[in-house]
Amino acid sequence: MVDHRRLGRELELFHADPLSGAGLPIWLPAGAAARHAIEEYVRELERRAGYQHVYSPPLGKRELFERSGHLPYFADDMFPPMKISEDDEFVLRPALCPHHCLVFGARGRSYRELPLRIGELGGMYRSERSGVLGGLSRVRAIWLNDAHNFCTLEQVGAEVAEILELIRTAHAALGVRPAGFRLSLRGPGEKYVGDEQEWNRAENLLREALDAAGQPYVEAAGEAAFYGPKIDIQTQDPAGRESTISTIQLDFDKAARFDLSYMDSNGQARRPVIVHRSLVGSMERLFAYLIEVHEGGFPLWYAPVQLEVLPVGPEQHDVAAAFARTAVEAGLRAELAPDGSLGARVRAAARRRVPYAAVIGAREAAEGQVSLRLRDGRALDPMPAPSALALLTESVAAHSVQLLPAV
Ligand SMILES: [Zn+2]
Repeated sequence: MVDHRRLGRELELFHADPLSGAGLPIWLPAGAAARHAIEEYVRELERRAGYQHVYSPPLGKRELFERSGHLPYFADDMFPPMKISEDDEFVLRPALCPHHCLVFGARGRSYRELPLRIGELGGMYRSERSGVLGGLSRVRAIWLNDAHNFCTLEQVGAEVAEILELIRTAHAALGVRPAGFRLSLRGPGEKYVGDEQEWNRAENLLREALDAAGQPYVEAAGEAAFYGPKIDIQTQDPAGRESTISTIQLDFDKAARFDLSYMDSNGQARRPVIVHRSLVGSMERLFAYLIEVHEGGFPLWYAPVQLEVLPVGPEQHDVAAAFARTAVEAGLRAELAPDGSLGARVRAAARRRVPYAAVIGAREAAEGQVSLRLRDGRALDPMPAPSALALLTESVAAHSVQLLPAV
């Protein structure tokens, strides 16, 4: 069975060191390179969709998390507060929403600014018991692709439809294949904030958005958060365990807790609705999934090393080194591997799941060409070096999951 912990070790993606602590893995250069590519992609996808990104600290004053409701309701999942002095205590945050509420409240807001979409790939912490921790799937330090969309209730339907579309785009690029969509609604006998009418409206808006997207889903009564209904997008690991990668949650609670308001077109103060949403979840859980679903062989655009340059003999070393440099200049993650037999180097690159090897022998060197080999064993005819670079950079720019673009 494919296990991301074993592959993560073999491919040197991340390192779990007992001295660092359980659930606190270290991202090694290869894992960090892949993650960086995905972070940049997601940030750009969001920027084009009108998101504004912020940075906020992964810890804050105790009062912030009392106000947000996390300490009163969620303290069991948080690390204990750190006391600095008698009246100064700090808390490692378990979520980004409190800081994003402060962003909204940093100045007066007008209805013209809505929906206001505040995004961040931010750090947060959960005090998981050490028994449940393993690899990247359950961790204590989490980097979440998160955003909070502040909008009116009338805007929720369009907002959710657009988020579903962004999720679909991101999943296609990453090679995420969802196992199912779940619409979590109120259940009998539970306590919820917000009034009946708002809830009915919100639940219907989520249903309509899913229907309009032609997206099959199951309804789960009683699974809503106390502050609002949500859509969870589930994935399955090879052992059949489900986890949530992407989520869209409506919130009728936090805007009131932080007393957030905007001026409507009549100059009246109104409460926004908050949509918490994550397109791809936390980097940790996402990679646990991606490593397993791709069996370590990531698509070209986020492969840690995209191109291995292999001179056949020492006579081609300089030409190969120059080609590798040009590839790096063109934005590719390329390496030169000059030592050992050619067969051994091709096999080593394939074992490391490097998508492309560029072989340069005497004929290629003389004619300014390279011979590309794919990690799946396919070999392309020799082509001019610039054409080979164009083939790769175009595939990277298209965020394709296919190694070779269809012709
Ligand atoms: Zn949130």
